[in-house]
Amino acid sequence: MLVLHGHAVCGGAAVGKLRFYRHGKVSAQLRHIENEEQEISRLHSALVRAEKELDELSKNAELEQAAEILELHRMMLEDEDFRTAIENCIHEKKIAAENAVLEVAKSFEAMFAAMDDEYMQARDADVKDIAARLVRILTGAVIGGLDTSVPVIVAADDLAPSETVQMEKSQILAFVTMFGSPNSHAAILSGILGVPAVVQIGTELLPEFDGRTAAVDGDNGTLYIDPDEEILAMIHKKQASSLKARQELENFRGRESCTRSGKKIRVCANISTIEDLKAAVRDGAEGIGLFRSEFLYLEDGQHPQEERQVQVYRRILREMGGKRTVVRTVDLGADKGAGWLNLPHEENPALGCRGIRLCFARPELLRVQLRALYRASVEGNLAILFPMVTSSEEAVRLREMAAQVRDELKAEGIPICEDVPLGVMIETPAAALISASLAKEADFFSIGTNDLIQYTLAVDRQNSHVEQYWDPYHPAVRELIRLTAHAAQQAGIPAAVCGELAADPTMTAFFAQLGIHELSVSPPQILPLRRQICLLP
Ligand code: PEP
Ligand code: MG
Repeated sequence: MLVLHGHAVCGGAAVGKLRFYRHGKVSAQLRHIENEEQEISRLHSALVRAEKELDELSKNAELEQAAEILELHRMMLEDEDFRTAIENCIHEKKIAAENAVLEVAKSFEAMFAAMDDEYMQARDADVKDIAARLVRILTGAVIGGLDTSVPVIVAADDLAPSETVQMEKSQILAFVTMFGSPNSHAAILSGILGVPAVVQIGTELLPEFDGRTAAVDGDNGTLYIDPDEEILAMIHKKQASSLKARQELENFRGRESCTRSGKKIRVCANISTIEDLKAAVRDGAEGIGLFRSEFLYLEDGQHPQEERQVQVYRRILREMGGKRTVVRTVDLGADKGAGWLNLPHEENPALGCRGIRLCFARPELLRVQLRALYRASVEGNLAILFPMVTSSEEAVRLREMAAQVRDELKAEGIPICEDVPLGVMIETPAAALISASLAKEADFFSIGTNDLIQYTLAVDRQNSHVEQYWDPYHPAVRELIRLTAHAAQQAGIPAAVCGELAADPTMTAFFAQLGIHELSVSPPQILPLRRQICLLP
């Protein structure tokens, strides 16, 4: 038996086969294009991005051999013949850059494979590899996956949010990764699934463990490869006791989330996908406090069309049956990049063009989404939430954009609900500090503590090297939450908390005291939080 230690992210225990997530299988839907120049420019940006990625990887490569391979990939990317062949293919066949990359790569692979020299023959794998990188950058789609027909413990070096969101959830017993930050979106998603997760195990988590039996103790961050009888017994005991705790929580299903003195706090769900929605309904969410709609944009590998978005929003609203459903407008950028967006490289993406900033830069993104949301609004109790707001002017501008879309739809004779509440996320210190003014431009607040902590404490939530500075209980964070709740109360608008801190039982009394109306948490946290609220004096 081998015992590996990492950083515990989500508690619980699991036992099963370990299966490594493959990042490498490439495919791209054939897309015919009209604007060849636009495709060439997409290709060029992807080439630049790929070179940057390779640079970064070589800098961190521990083995000399690995650095050599990466250097070779770089040289191939710079190869004029390769580049020209792709450009010619775009011009001649009028197909998207990713299709041209795959087509040219195939002919280069064949060319290498046909060579006499064994070393040169083996270079076909490198062509495949760089093509995979380029296609991933160009499409943002997950290329690879989980090769299994039974539930497994998913292992990976790290997982991008777009990869995690596209996995078949019923096949995930637990997550274990070599790297990754406990505050990343991938980690948050494991919380949503309610499966144990351990990150930062390091390179001792070897790919050759693939297929072996493993056990995960998510409470203390331990992974056992080929666990012995004693460990298996311990894991089964833990599973039994968490099942018992879960059964006890059943008493809180369908109950009101009310303190003993009668203060009501709504317990809602944070969701990213339709599967999360099912879990939210099952666990008795009193509404959806946060639908992270950007995952729709990451799943599709292309801009989700208005019609597709309408279908998704309608389905959620119908399934929530009149319960309030807050859809956050697309919060892409920072760690949530989609290749098809072709975002320019940024030195500090968390401080860059993310959330509504990206929507201001590309208004079509928000316009299409708002059209879809208003079209779906007649199906239920919708509220719209804007992320990354830092000024009142931005809030005003967003309201104007929403009004414009409403006018547009009315002129087209499409029925809409006119008074959909428009809320602002409080996730920057700026927003919290001006919350009294912002309250005049918002129908409600939702405090996103994940980013609020990141921006207040200047701690990148993705960077495991500064993890020790991540302090959710820091007095500065508490003060900003207090200010926001006070401003909301003064203005008579509701305030919710939807970051991970909302589920922290040690914070529930603080939120209740501040008059927070709603706590929105991942579905597995709904019943424990309701229990916590019901126990408060
Ligand atoms: C937050 O920042 O707290 C939040 C809820 O949004 P996200 O985690 O998606 O950035
Ligand atoms: Mg956020």
